Order: sequence, then structure tokens, then C-alpha cells
Amino acid sequence: MPPSERSGAADLSALYQDIILDHYRRPRNSGKLEHPDERILRKNPFCGDTIELQLTFDGDRVSEARFTGQGCAISQASASMMAQLVEGKSVAELERLASDFTRLVSEGKTVEDGSSLGELRAFSGVARLPNRHLCALLAWGALSEALLHHG
Ligand code: ZN
Repeated sequence: MPPSERSGAADLSALYQDIILDHYRRPRNSGKLEHPDERILRKNPFCGDTIELQLTFDGDRVSEARFTGQGCAISQASASMMAQLVEGKSVAELERLASDFTRLVSEGKTVEDGSSLGELRAFSGVARLPNRHLCALLAWGALSEALLHHG
């Protein structure tokens, strides 16, 4: 197992670890778009993670999302789940999702209507690992910046 897989994910419960490692090994929506409307590069200097997020919009909805990146399992799995979830959603829906996810990572609990988070709930254990918060939120910072640009 490469060191990046051991770091972080191993501290989570077995079920959550499986979901995270599955996305890390087989990232969804990975790659680049031919004509992205937004392209955001984010780096996490503490862990060495990088994420480049590319989005196309149709009106106020994200039509396509792709990412490329390198780094620990938590950062890459979070990007994979995010890119998969954002397609078809409106800017308002995504701002809410980003704030629900940020709360999950920083406090470990889901908001009342946390059902929209789906698989992202696998990251609730990251709340106990403060030095991993930036890893889990890296891709979401890129998403927020892209939404801001677009708006
Ligand atoms: Zn990391």
C-alpha cells in the first residue's frame, strides 16, 4: 500500500475507509474538459495535495465536472465524490451542499436534512482528525471559488 493510502484513511471506521479508498483507487469524473467555463487549481501545502477542478455551466447549473489531482486518499476521494455529485445541480444547491459538507467535516455531524450528502457522510470521521480537514475540504474550496467566479 503506498504511503498516501495509509495516511488519514486508516484512522476512519472500516466502512468509511472502504468508501474513501474505493473513490481514491477508481476516481469518478477524473480527467479534463475540452472547453471548461471554470478551471480552479488548489493546493494543500500541509499535505502536498493538489486538485484542479474543471466545470462547464448551463445557465446556473453545472453541466459537467472533471478533476485531476494528486495527494492523499482523503483529498482525492473527496474530489471524486464532489465531482460526481455536482453535475446537474444549481449554484444555490451547490452552495448549500458545500456548507453542509464543511459542517460535517468540521463538526462530525450532519445537518438535519443531511440526506443530500449521501456517500459524503463517509467523511464524518475526519472531524476527529483536525490535520485532515484541509485535505477533505480542498476540492470544495475549488468548487466554491468556481461558483463565485461564475456568479
Ligand atoms: Zn491530504
